[in-house]
Amino acid sequence: MPELPEVESLARFITTQAGGQEVARAELASFAALKTFDPPLEALRGQVLQGAGRRGKFLTLRFADELWLVLHLARGGWLRWRDELATTRVKPSPKSPLALRLGFTGGGGFEVTEAGTEKRLALYVVRSPDDVAGVVRLGPDPFEVDVASLGERLIAAGASPLKAVLADQTVLAGVGNAYSDEVLHSARLSPFKPASKLSDDELARVHGALRSVLEDALQRSLGLPAAGLKAEKREGLRVHGRAGLPCPVCGDTGREVSYATKAFQYCPTCQTGGKVLADRRLSRLLR
Ligand SMILES: [Zn+2]
Repeated sequence: MPELPEVESLARFITTQAGGQEVARAELASFAALKTFDPPLEALRGQVLQGAGRRGKFLTLRFADELWLVLHLARGGWLRWRDELATTRVKPSPKSPLALRLGFTGGGGFEVTEAGTEKRLALYVVRSPDDVAGVVRLGPDPFEVDVASLGERLIAAGASPLKAVLADQTVLAGVGNAYSDEVLHSARLSPFKPASKLSDDELARVHGALRSVLEDALQRSLGLPAAGLKAEKREGLRVHGRAGLPCPVCGDTGREVSYATKAFQYCPTCQTGGKVLADRRLSRLLR
């Protein structure tokens, strides 16, 4: 799933490619993906793209006439720019990964796709991003939150594990499964540490790691075309998705805890005092 650095880079990429251009066509291929009906998608036609931005993991495209297209790419969603967009009309099909084709008068345009069977991609045509419930519920941006208010938000999360709290969009906007693993690794904290039980030093480490990890990922991905972002993200990860591989900081072997549909990774030496956490799925099977 694209998280803050990738969505920010996609936003800048879209602005570079299509900013100032007029929408020639907006064709929906997945009816389920469009969550709004008024204004209609058709209202985008003839609109000039002012620029693209980000609210958490939501991508926001601003058009003249106070019209916005807001996208949540979810787990399998992505966006591709084509210099020459296919001219055939989109045929809606539940089997096709294509969800939306947005063409500009210059002939280029975007194709929004969603891979896999879990269809969660969401598109909204709205008068303001604040018309989207998921946007309104977002917590502060990690680049804008100060140590004190981050601390308050973590205390409010109670005994929930840090791993879950950092990826909770109502606590912080834009951090997901991958970067929460990376932030915890950088802050040298266990994913299971209760969010409300951090010392001042631990809180400062989480706050610093949020900025450094996200800023670093952002710097690496800026200026890349949409097609290069996923590989760049994988390349820069130190612990996420690296179970069985050596930790680049200490050389210990990365470990994994998996749930029904999710897994997270950590380094025992860096994060848990060398302790290997029980894999709950595994221990349930063994019981
Ligand atoms: Zn390590």
